Amino acid sequence: MLRQVLLSIAGSKATKDLVTKMPVSAGIVARYVPGEETADAVRATRSLVDDGRLATIDYLGEDTLDEDQAEATVSAYLALLEALGADGLSRGAEVSVKLSAIGQALPEIGPKLSLENARRIAKAARAVGTTVTLDMEDHTTTDQTLDTLRELRKDYPETGAVVQAYLRRTEDDCRALAFEGSRVRLCKGAYNEPETVAFADRHEVDKSYVRCLKVLMAGAGYPMVATHDPRMIRIAGALATRSGRSAGSYEYQMLYGIRPDEQKRLAASGERMRVYIPFGTEWYGYLMRRLAERPANLTFFLRSLVSSK
Ligand SMILES: Cc1cc2nc3c(=O)[nH]c(=O)nc-3n(C[C@H](O)[C@H](O)[C@H](O)COP(=O)(O)OP(=O)(O)OC[C@H]3O[C@@H](n4cnc5c(N)ncnc54)[C@H](O)[C@@H]3O)c2cc1C
Repeated sequence: MLRQVLLSIAGSKATKDLVTKMPVSAGIVARYVPGEETADAVRATRSLVDDGRLATIDYLGEDTLDEDQAEATVSAYLALLEALGADGLSRGAEVSVKLSAIGQALPEIGPKLSLENARRIAKAARAVGTTVTLDMEDHTTTDQTLDTLRELRKDYPETGAVVQAYLRRTEDDCRALAFEGSRVRLCKGAYNEPETVAFADRHEVDKSYVRCLKVLMAGAGYPMVATHDPRMIRIAGALATRSGRSAGSYEYQMLYGIRPDEQKRLAASGERMRVYIPFGTEWYGYLMRRLAERPANLTFFLRSLVSSK
C-alpha cells in the first residue's frame, strides 16, 4: 500500500521539485548514488573492483521527450566508457541503459532513435571490451524494449536483457530468452503496475521469481540474479548446483549501497557479484523506487529533506 502511494507521488512535479533541492551528498541520496560526475562512478567502480566485485553503471535519467537530452545521455555513456577503458576498469564494469533516457518515448521517431543510440553505446562498449544491459522499465515499454534488444543483438549479441518477475508474462519471456549466449537479468520489478499485468501480492512475485529462475538456470543462457532477498539468493544457488552450473556461469547482482556485506560475502565465496552503480543529477525517480521498496527508510529520508533546507 505504502509502496503504491510512494510510487504514485513519485510522478508529482511538486514532490520532485521539493526533493531534488536536496544535494546529492544528503544522507539518503548518497547512500544509493555515489555522485553526479563520471569521476564519481569511476571511483565507486574502482573500489568495488579492488575487493573482487564487478559493476554495471547507469547514467541516471529516464522518460525524456527531448532529443537534446537523449543525445546528452548518449554522450555521458560514451565518456564513461572511455574513462573505464582508460582506467583499465572495462573488464570489471559494463553499463546499464534505460531506453527511455535515450529517446524511446519521443513521438514517432522514438523506437528508431533509441535503437540507433543504443547501437552507439554498444559499439563504444565493445571497443573497450565490455557490454551493455538494457534496463526494463514499466510494462507499457516491455515489448518495445524486447524488440530493440532483438535488433541490437543482431550486431551486438552480448547485449544483456532484463525481465521482471512481477509481470505475469515473464515466465514465457524467460523461456524465449534462455538460449546460448543470452545474458538475462532477473529482478522482481520496481514500477507501479496494474493487477491486470502484474502480481500484486509479494508471495506471488516471489513464486514467479523462483519459476523464472528455474527456467533461466536450466537453460543455455547466462542468468544474472538481481535481488537482495536472502531466500531468492539461496534458491538461486541451489538451482545452479542442480543444473550443474559452476560459479562464473551465472552471476548475482545487487544495487549500490544495499547489503554491501552480503555482496562481499558472495564475492569472497567465489561467486560473480556485480553491483549496479547509478550516477548523475537525475536521481529522483531512482531514489523514489528505492524508498518504495524500503519504507523503513522514510524517516531517514524525511530527516535528510529537513536538514538539507
Ligand atoms: C542489479 C539490479 C538491477 C535492477 N534493474 C532493474 C530493472 O531494470 N528494472 C526494474 O524494474 N527493476 C530493476 N531492479 C530493481 C528490482 O526490480 C527490485 O525493485 C529491487 O531489487 C528490490 O527487490 P529485491 O529482489 O531486492 O527484493 P525485496 O523483497 O524488495 O527485498 C529483499 C530484502 O532486500 C533488502 N532491500 C531491498 N530493497 C532495499 C532498499 N531499497 N534499501 C535497503 N534494503 C533493501 C531488504 O533487506 C529486503 O528485506 C534491479 C535490481 C538490481 C539489484
